[in-house]
Amino acid sequence: MVQCPVCQSKSLDNQVKFCTTCGWNLTPNSDQLGQAPEPSMQKEKLKLSWAKQMWQRFQSKQQEFQKLQQQRLTLLNHVQSQLEQANLEKKILETQLSTISFKLEKKEQQNRQLQSQLQQTNRERQEFQLQLSLTQLQLQKEEQNNLKLQYQLQQTVNNYNQLQSELEKNQEEIANYEQAITELQANSQISESRPQRKNYWQLSD
Ligand SMILES: [Zn+2]
Repeated sequence: MVQCPVCQSKSLDNQVKFCTTCGWNLTPNSDQLGQAPEPSMQKEKLKLSWAKQMWQRFQSKQQEFQKLQQQRLTLLNHVQSQLEQANLEKKILETQLSTISFKLEKKEQQNRQLQSQLQQTNRERQEFQLQLSLTQLQLQKEEQNNLKLQYQLQQTVNNYNQLQSELEKNQEEIANYEQAITELQANSQISESRPQRKNYWQLSD
């Protein structure tokens, strides 16, 4: 079994040349066999120490990266859920909008009907006003006619009264004449001894 001096990962294969985790060269070289001179050993130790540091830094960076990745995922989920919520709200709003649009359309239709009715009513009102003014004109004419007739009636009454008084006068005169005739007849009876003469209307007989 071989353990990597840099990343400490183990491999069961003794013949493996490079670490499968960090890629460190695992083959034992002449230096590592203790045949190398002291400065070369020192150099090798420094190289290993540097590689370990680098590996730890890489590990810590990777952890940071994973943490960021996790945060990113959380954020993404959050955004996703917000997006779904927003989509749901959008659908609700769309439904509401379509309902309102439908109502608006209905209202506009009612409005058009009312306007048409209003126009019709206006036309009827104008016609009625025209008839009213015509009727008023006729009424004025009738009133004038009435006055004329009243005047004529008054004239007729005046004429009648005049005729009545003339009639009374005539009747009075007739009464006077009758009185005179009676008196004359009385006088004629006194002279009855005288021969009777025929009246002029009896001469034709
Ligand atoms: Zn390794």
